[in-house]
Amino acid sequence: MLFQRYGTFTGGIDLPDEKQATLDLPIAPIARPERLRVSLSPCGGQAGEVLVEAGQRVQAGQRLARAASPSGVDVFAPLSGRVASTVTVKIAFGDEFAAVPAVELDRLSDPPNVEVLPRQEGDFRDLSSQELRERLAEGHLVMGRRPPCSLSGWIERARRHDCHTLIANVMENQPMVTADHRLLVEHGEDVVRGLAILGRAVEARELVLAVDQRRVSQYRRLLSASRQHDVSRIALSHKYPTGADAILVKILTRRETPPGQSTLAVRAGVVDAATCLAACHWVLGGRRQLGRVLTLSGPGIRRPGNYYVPFGAPCFELAEGWTKTLVHGGPMTGLLTPQEAVVSPATEALLALDTPVGAVPRPCIRCGWCTDHCPARLNVAQLNDEYELNLVNSARKAGVMACVECGICSYVCPAGLPLTSRVKQLKRTIRLIRSRLPLLAGMVS
Ligand code: SF4
Ligand code: SF4
Repeated sequence: MLFQRYGTFTGGIDLPDEKQATLDLPIAPIARPERLRVSLSPCGGQAGEVLVEAGQRVQAGQRLARAASPSGVDVFAPLSGRVASTVTVKIAFGDEFAAVPAVELDRLSDPPNVEVLPRQEGDFRDLSSQELRERLAEGHLVMGRRPPCSLSGWIERARRHDCHTLIANVMENQPMVTADHRLLVEHGEDVVRGLAILGRAVEARELVLAVDQRRVSQYRRLLSASRQHDVSRIALSHKYPTGADAILVKILTRRETPPGQSTLAVRAGVVDAATCLAACHWVLGGRRQLGRVLTLSGPGIRRPGNYYVPFGAPCFELAEGWTKTLVHGGPMTGLLTPQEAVVSPATEALLALDTPVGAVPRPCIRCGWCTDHCPARLNVAQLNDEYELNLVNSARKAGVMACVECGICSYVCPAGLPLTSRVKQLKRTIRLIRSRLPLLAGMVS
């Protein structure tokens, strides 16, 4: 059997696939950008200490900045070029963009190409867990998920939670996004080996590769690597949002993630394909994580595809003059891209869409669709009432923190209500009260 098939969950929705434009297009290098604006705090927090000065020429892979804290990572030049200046850019953290300082490089050379993703030879199994963790720490790798964080920091958190199951989540079940699928088709063996490296570093007892059941026939090349490294291959329904971490963990392990917490709370870690590949390339090939594969698609893109793009490439330049809606991420959970945004480890896709923004919502008609489809089984219409009446504690009691931020409620609402952003706002308010006002936290804990 290629992949074992598993069950599904209550709620959710069958979305149109809409991946045809890029699904079968091999990963290609993006045309060399005019300049790169490389974030000095790729994991948020304080900007790193800059080690270069204006006018200096730097080589690809050269250290540009040293992390300001143990939770950060050092920053490296994605391409060779000249240090032009220090600027401010925006990169995606969680559910918003944040302004961060960056080093601008111009007069670039060494165009990125797929040679940066060659298959890696060698083995890591003679390295102990401790040696692997030290090796990964030297790589200063960033997890390719929102919010981005230091991979080494995440490994330490996973170990503190005694992570039993480590899952490579390659469900990618939002429409139009195909970057992880192409990584698995073209670099599946290295993705699997990266998962095994991370599994050993975390000291997980079980490794799982979770994919969309419609694509399994294209993943034959990774079979021997997955057998060699004892990785279970699981094919799941494409129903959205099977790929939401808490939903995926519940399907695979039957463990329920406590509302508002990471899946590590139930001893399950979730990583993405790009992070697995980066771990493999660093540990086996000594190749730094200087860019990522992302999907460029939508009606506004002249040459849709899956591209390897260096970090710091300005997002709108990749969209070649598109001035309307540019979505950063998948269409269900993505963010509107600001002009100053640059590619970061969390940029899985850039979608140039014609979608009108800012349609005026109408009053709720009590159709119940939002609640019927909510995978967290929340009464979303009631949460919307609580948002409008500022009844934060009622929303907390109704379980709002269990929301997985999938975007379905907004997608199905015939009244055009921005339900997902309202639910997220309720969650933010509860978190803020818990963190800033501990004496009042009992009211919303
Ligand atoms: S309330 Fe949250 S989990 Fe439920 S449909 Fe809306 S975004 Fe998804
Ligand atoms: S889907 Fe929209 S209109 Fe229907 S119950 Fe939910 S909030 Fe109201």
